[in-house]
Amino acid sequence: MLWGRSLLTAGLQCCSCRVSCHVKRHYGFLADDVKSLKAVVNPDISKIRNIGIMAHIDAGKTTTTERMLYYSGYTRALGDVDDGDTVTDFMAQERERGITIQSAAVTFDWKTHRINLIDTPGHVDFTLEVERALRVLDGAVAVFDASAGVEAQTLTVWRQAEKHHVPCVCFLNKMDKPAANLSFSIESIKHKLKANPVLLQIPVGSGKSFSGVVDLLTRRKLTWKLRSTRDDGQVFQSKALDQSDEPELLQEVGEARAALIEQVADLDDEFAELLLTDFGDNFDAVSSVKLQEAVRRVTLARRGVPVLCGSSLRNKGVQPLLDAVVAYLPAPDERHHDLVRWYEGDLCALAFKVLHDKQRGPLVFLRVYSGTLKPQTAVHNLNRNSTERMSRLLVPFADQHVEIPFMTAGNIALTVGLKQTVTGDTIVSSRAAAAAAARRAREDGGAGDKRAEDVSVVLSGVEVPDPVFFCTIEPPTMAKQADLENALNCLQREDPSLKVRADPDSGQTVLCGMGELHIEIVHDRIRREYGIETQLGPLQVAYRESILHSASTTDTLDRTVGERRHAASVELAVAPLAVSAPGDSCELVFSEHLETQLSAEMKQAVENGVHSSWHHGPLLGSPLQGVATRIQGVRLEPGTSVAMVSACVSRCMLKALRLAGGRVLEPVMSLEVTVGEERLGSVLGDLAQRRGTVRDIQSRHDDKVLLATVPLAEMMGYSTVLRTLTSGTASFSLELDSYEAMNPQDQSALLRRVAGLL
Ligand code: GDP
Ligand code: MG
Repeated sequence: MLWGRSLLTAGLQCCSCRVSCHVKRHYGFLADDVKSLKAVVNPDISKIRNIGIMAHIDAGKTTTTERMLYYSGYTRALGDVDDGDTVTDFMAQERERGITIQSAAVTFDWKTHRINLIDTPGHVDFTLEVERALRVLDGAVAVFDASAGVEAQTLTVWRQAEKHHVPCVCFLNKMDKPAANLSFSIESIKHKLKANPVLLQIPVGSGKSFSGVVDLLTRRKLTWKLRSTRDDGQVFQSKALDQSDEPELLQEVGEARAALIEQVADLDDEFAELLLTDFGDNFDAVSSVKLQEAVRRVTLARRGVPVLCGSSLRNKGVQPLLDAVVAYLPAPDERHHDLVRWYEGDLCALAFKVLHDKQRGPLVFLRVYSGTLKPQTAVHNLNRNSTERMSRLLVPFADQHVEIPFMTAGNIALTVGLKQTVTGDTIVSSRAAAAAAARRAREDGGAGDKRAEDVSVVLSGVEVPDPVFFCTIEPPTMAKQADLENALNCLQREDPSLKVRADPDSGQTVLCGMGELHIEIVHDRIRREYGIETQLGPLQVAYRESILHSASTTDTLDRTVGERRHAASVELAVAPLAVSAPGDSCELVFSEHLETQLSAEMKQAVENGVHSSWHHGPLLGSPLQGVATRIQGVRLEPGTSVAMVSACVSRCMLKALRLAGGRVLEPVMSLEVTVGEERLGSVLGDLAQRRGTVRDIQSRHDDKVLLATVPLAEMMGYSTVLRTLTSGTASFSLELDSYEAMNPQDQSALLRRVAGLL
């Protein structure tokens, strides 16, 4: 336990970790690490980089992260995803499946800079994790498989990064593959991502003989040992290009550097001016420092993205990538956050992730925007309007946590003791501090049209997509029901994309999730982490319902309960709204005379009745979408209870919806399959049987990329089928595209099947 003691002597404590043997192997904490860890408590904000790594699954995010941790000195051994012993994929399921599910935050230092890195998952079932991470990042590294260029999931996360204005650096990984292709990858960044790639390096050698890169700014050649099996890539040679180098390489570098300078001059006026006044046509004289400054401005303004290349698996090119993170991605104070100004140094932080730890209870990841976070203090949660006490403050090192005395703005910290906080909440020092910030925001004119006093100073949270799959979950015995509920509560706080509800008819607990894998993982975690063997019902698709025509009707309810007579009659109309992107909802209006005639209480009762019928459509009991409802008349006998009014309205709604004719909307997914040409036929044949519509077939080297839309209901177990069809050579990704009306035959087949099930 040498490392434990040295942490203690440095005034820091090491917490017990969940997978200690693993951590000990990786984290041989030594005295010099502790020195730099000490800096955790007070780093200079300009030297912090909060970054994420994003990519399509299998592009090499986890492998790249491992190399970063290793070269920065925080791990003593190189992890390998193929052996299942990486640091960031620490959940048992992730190690087994070799994919990253929960984004784990890791903190390490690189050349006097502090890097907080969030490893984001690539699987589409977990896009919420990515979104959540992007919300609190200042910059991102996009990792590409250089033989595949931009793939489906990269496009999705790239759009998310754009939405949050996150500056990016691109890393073309897997340059060691024979099919790696620099110009193809650059073109795909241009065309598919609509980004402006700024190539900063050119590769030395290709395929198996890929040995390093030439840095176009400094004209230095960085090379790693080629084939020594045990070489960890720690040491590499860096030498200025000179006449001893191959003439082809010199020429290529000359041309690429000139192109870079011209491109940067086009993107940055300051550099263009400098070029004109100081250098003229003499590009050789352009200083690498000036060029780097200009590339940084271009990156921060998102006018271009620096592109680097390497091979993480072969330990080449990762150190220059880390240099690029520090050089081009922004420090927290270079990002624009009004909140920082309004809080004037008072605490303001965003909870972006909650984890449940058996011993310590909920652990909340906070990104501090302003002020200082201290343990043993009370903080105010603006979203829950509650005050909570934070007991301890930790710095996350994957599944290892180091306790610290305070945390300043720009950093990411892990807190213990916040029991009510959920993902997306804003944490401030007190209500009064929030009110003061709101005042400043209003004076600033920056609060926009926000209503409530402190809403304007709440950080916007994360949008939670609608779940597309659901299934029932049952405990082994009724005695375990309470344990199961507790487990599900914990899991939901960690993962807002998981929804749990009770089936109104059967009373069973229902899990709703983003995909087959998502539900499978939840099931697995309940077993492993909570020790409950649960039974899952068949996986079902989350349909929506809508109506075909307009209809209006009336209904009357007249009942005497005990001494009291309840009598209500309602007249209402329903009409279809234009359909129908995901999230499209329903609308409710009251006829004008009712606005004054109905008491607030009765109006609420009517609304409740309407809303409850929106949640359970007449065909499948699925939520309704695209239905406009108009309440035309309400007559009430005095003394009628609100519950009776709601019941009457719901019954009338059901009648109207039936009259209007129902139709089922089903989730339709966009599918991308990458497959060798010789297997394309069988994949297409299979797709036709799944009611798929092919949108495009593109070529990528020897492979075909098939773009299609397919109803989700037809995609259960697709990964297994595709593996069989193509002997495991194809890959695919699936993402919710829209909800679409089913054709009448398919709809009646579905309704018959459901009726048979009941
Ligand atoms: P992630 O899904 O993006 O986290 O990707 P992983 O890091 O798990 O890597 C996916 C697969 O690609 C693994 O089998 C890695 O060994 C492999 N891989 C990663 N980097 C490279 C590389 O630079 N070259 C080659 N040839 N394979 C790589
Ligand atoms: Mg991974």
